[in-house]
Parts: sequence; structure tokens; C-alpha cells
Amino acid sequence: MPSYTVSLAVLGECLRSEHLRALAAILQPWFDSCNVQRGVSRYAHVLLDLNPTEGTSANSSLLIYFMTSREESVIVHSTNFRGIPEGKGYTLHPAVSTHPAVSTGNAASEVYVSAHPREDGSLDLQDMAITVFHEAMHNQLYMAENLHSRGGAAASPGTHPTVENFRLMHASLATRRPQWRDGWTWYERIRIPSDF
Ligand SMILES: [Zn+2]
Repeated sequence: MPSYTVSLAVLGECLRSEHLRALAAILQPWFDSCNVQRGVSRYAHVLLDLNPTEGTSANSSLLIYFMTSREESVIVHSTNFRGIPEGKGYTLHPAVSTHPAVSTGNAASEVYVSAHPREDGSLDLQDMAITVFHEAMHNQLYMAENLHSRGGAAASPGTHPTVENFRLMHASLATRRPQWRDGWTWYERIRIPSDF
């Protein structure tokens, strides 16, 4: 039985490694609960890949990009994906018929790090984990606005995922969703020179 690999791709310097590891520690049991429900496992393991590249992500079940803000959105800046990102993250997939993304057959997800501040200005990793899981649901389930009525992390804004969220993901998890791997290339093209 293969693994279900969730690749977390940090673009630029938007997320320190200790924050990324802490984020992964929150996400791991949530994805494990998607994998195993009522004693049924879809995969042997769920692996969180914290250092994916365009090459190594070829077998990613989910590939989620992180960038500082929506101004650095690789989805919007790319040729094949067009849209206006709102909120804390964004996902396009082939079932969203109004977007040219359908022509590529790939799903793309991204999360805006600066959209998750605590009141003291530090990073709210719990809130960001909810955004990651929310975008993962859009991506894996091929659901658009209709996701938001399902409660928990599916809601917008979302909260801690519910058992219903896990079971919805569990039902879909064996279905392979090809992932859009051009995010690194687009980030190199759009990013603002640091010495400007
Ligand atoms: Zn949403």
C-alpha cells in the first residue's frame, strides 16, 4: 500500500523551518484521520514532505505552496490559472469550470502566511493549519463554494476539522488528483528583488 504524500512547498523566506515543523505537527494527525476511518486505511502512511522540489513532488498527492502574501500568488501570476484570490489561501482545480485551469488537468493550492497573524503580531500556526486543511479539501474533493457549507475546516472561515470533514476526505482519498508543479518556476519570475 503506497503512501499519501502532502508536500508543503515554502517559496522564498516566508516561513521559518521551526514554524514549518510545528505546522506539520498540527497537520499530521488531521491527515492521519483522513487516512484511517472506522478501521479502514486508504494508505500505509500519510507523509508530510517539508522540503519538496519540482522534481521530487512528481508523486505528491497534494502540493501546497506557501508565500508571504496574495500579492505573490503563483496561481494568479501563472499563465494557465487566472482568478482573484481572497482570504487566507486559494485553490483551483479542474472541476472549477469557470477557470482555464481545467485545460491543464491539475489542481493547485497556495496559502498566504501573512494572513494568519495573532493579535501580538506573531504567527497563528493553528489558524494556518486550518487554512492548509481547507485548501487540501478543495483540492482533494474537487469542491468549490459548495465545500463551505460542510462545517469545521470546510467552512470559510474554518475551524478545527470535524469528524465529518475527515470522513469526507477519507471517502475521496484513494482518488488521485494530479498536482500543478510550476509554482517554483512562477515564483522565481514574480518575486520582488530583495535588494531593490
Ligand atoms: Zn474555500
